[in-house]
Amino acid sequence: MSLRLRRALLLLVAASGGAALSIAAAFGVRFGPESPDEAARRILERGLHEEKAHALLRSLLEAAPMRLTGSPGAEAALAHMEAVMRGLGFANVHREAVRVERWERGAETAVIEASAFGPEIDLAVCALGGSVGTAPEGLAAEVLEVRSFRELEAAADAARGKIVFFNRPMDRAVLDPFRAYGENAELRVRGAVEAAKRGAVAVLVRSLTMRRDRHPHTGLMRYEDGPPRIPAAAVATEDADGLSARLRETPGLTVRLKLGCRSAGSVWSSNLIGELRGSERPGEIILIGGHLDAWDLGSGAHDDGAGCVHAVEALRLIKAVGLVPKRTIRAVLFMDEEFGGTGGRSYAGAPEREGERHLAAFESDRGGFLPLAVGIGGGPEVLRRFEGLGALLRSSGVVLGLVAGGGGVDIAPLAEQGALLGGLIPDAARYFDHHHSALDVLEAVHPRELELGAIALALTAFLIARDGI
Ligand SMILES: [Zn+2]
Repeated sequence: MSLRLRRALLLLVAASGGAALSIAAAFGVRFGPESPDEAARRILERGLHEEKAHALLRSLLEAAPMRLTGSPGAEAALAHMEAVMRGLGFANVHREAVRVERWERGAETAVIEASAFGPEIDLAVCALGGSVGTAPEGLAAEVLEVRSFRELEAAADAARGKIVFFNRPMDRAVLDPFRAYGENAELRVRGAVEAAKRGAVAVLVRSLTMRRDRHPHTGLMRYEDGPPRIPAAAVATEDADGLSARLRETPGLTVRLKLGCRSAGSVWSSNLIGELRGSERPGEIILIGGHLDAWDLGSGAHDDGAGCVHAVEALRLIKAVGLVPKRTIRAVLFMDEEFGGTGGRSYAGAPEREGERHLAAFESDRGGFLPLAVGIGGGPEVLRRFEGLGALLRSSGVVLGLVAGGGGVDIAPLAEQGALLGGLIPDAARYFDHHHSALDVLEAVHPRELELGAIALALTAFLIARDGI
């Protein structure tokens, strides 16, 4: 959480002491079936009473537990959610084509080889997304441990013929886990390129989590033209600490790494769209989106099954309580966020966007944890313009209010078309415990917390559909 966001939340907490302010007065409207207060009350009660978001997430994860971009599982997820949207009576339910790169994981092992100083030790590893595999017999090499690209550079020729082990823990002193993640992500994304430039034969990267356990966390890595394409794997934090300790005792120990992963070429996939059509200005759109693809070690419950469910449940709630939005509220389940963001770019550039105007787009891709706020970009002037929405969110008690923030990979291309970008901001303290690992499963998502996220987005979208921007 940024300092600015934290300060805003503190202010909101302070302000909510006087939450008796009349929302109707803030909007200058009379009470009626579609007054903001009444709409909020209906959506909140219905959502909390039924708690359907979690059941929807369960159904998605059962229908498609593995949703790696371009895989049969991703197609099964599209089919399932399309049937869900049609069953709920959404309008304009359709798919839009996206070209994606397919990558497959194979068997993967790493061991510290036995030496005069100790027996063979298994390391918990997983291939990073996009990595080439090793030869079937694997590769064995000495390990060079570094904490940064600068240290790698300073090691000069020491990396030649070695496995470079990037072992920099995420910084616990950073308050916002997303920032701590961002500070280390370059090691995962570009580690193989930087190590290959110095003659390394493979890389091991400490998993991007503050939790200490034996679950490796995958995620995207990239190659560049030029340096050889060397295999790249993540190593669990506990194993990274163990390997580091062994290296201090036994410099020159070797690790044998076997990765069976491979690229499987490009294939066609889709984004999935469904909406509640606006009664007065259907060409003006308020978008709520998540991404349907997911990493394959868990079942992508938080990342980003939760975001897809937030979008669909938000629309369902608005419809279920009998509200008719004046502008179109659209759920978009994007494909391929994890593997390059082609879904977001395809959506923004699709011929279907002709004649449409996106007023605002809200992305939910920070998990299904307790929502703290709804974020919106554009600076203080935009926040001021949405004071009424902020007051409604606050007085409803669903979240602490509207703050600066939000956005995301899938909706970013819509900024060029003038859309305000925002998003759901849940409590992030535990997000990276699960992120991209075998721990990202249904049991890690709390039904009421998930539902509150959908309710917050439903209120936000309904109010903007009613009042414009
Ligand atoms: Zn995600």
